Amino acid sequence: MTAIDDDMAARRAAMVREIEQTAAGLVPRFSLSPRVLAAMGDVPRHAFVLPEHLSDAYRNGPLPIGFGQTISQPFIVALMTDLAALKPGDRVLDIGTGSGYQAAILAGLVSHVFTIELCAPLAARAAKTFKDLGLHNITMRVGDGHRGWPEEAPFDAIVVAAAPGEIPEALIAQLKPGGRLVIPVGGRTQKLIVVEKGSDQSSHRSEIIPVSFVPLMKDDSAGSA
Ligand code: SAH
Repeated sequence: MTAIDDDMAARRAAMVREIEQTAAGLVPRFSLSPRVLAAMGDVPRHAFVLPEHLSDAYRNGPLPIGFGQTISQPFIVALMTDLAALKPGDRVLDIGTGSGYQAAILAGLVSHVFTIELCAPLAARAAKTFKDLGLHNITMRVGDGHRGWPEEAPFDAIVVAAAPGEIPEALIAQLKPGGRLVIPVGGRTQKLIVVEKGSDQSSHRSEIIPVSFVPLMKDDSAGSA
């Protein structure tokens, strides 16, 4: 390891401690699973931020990634990953690839991640990052996440990083029985929602915390996804 790697590893460890403290400070207190915290401690977030934000890569906040988009706050990535209740053999759909950071965290915890990004230049940059880091269990495509990914469904979990006004029915339809959808919903005020699909096709919604995500945009070029 170089001195820079050592420095980044130390900053990453401090970020993980801050994430744990943020979770413990929620009312009611939230305790993140050790598996999720280990994944947050493994993935080099500095590989997913723009060069000008390198020194802020392990700050517990969102950062701009260009094209009006952001890499999510590390605590929120950890919380959403935890709420997805993942198992090692799972197949997961990640909507709004952005920098690819959330997909990389998921990839360390499950067998395969499918990820969809609407903005082609962001998708191209994330694809290069996945290649550079040797992340081979991520399949990405450019398209509109409102439709999910029917060809690869059903999924054990779906994690969405941009907020629609209403939960897209296609996403609930693409969950396995017992599967979970973790999604921010709303306009100016948003809530993080977990939808659990029952074994009888019923679904149960829980509201977790208020959040602030970019909007899940509509793809106007119908059929291109
Ligand atoms: N998970 C990302 C967060 C990126 S922000 C990360 O870890 O960096 C949300 C992303 O959703 C943006 O990149 C935006 O371009 C994308 N997005 C917005 N609307 C979308 C849609 N309808 N389908 C797919 N991606 C969408």
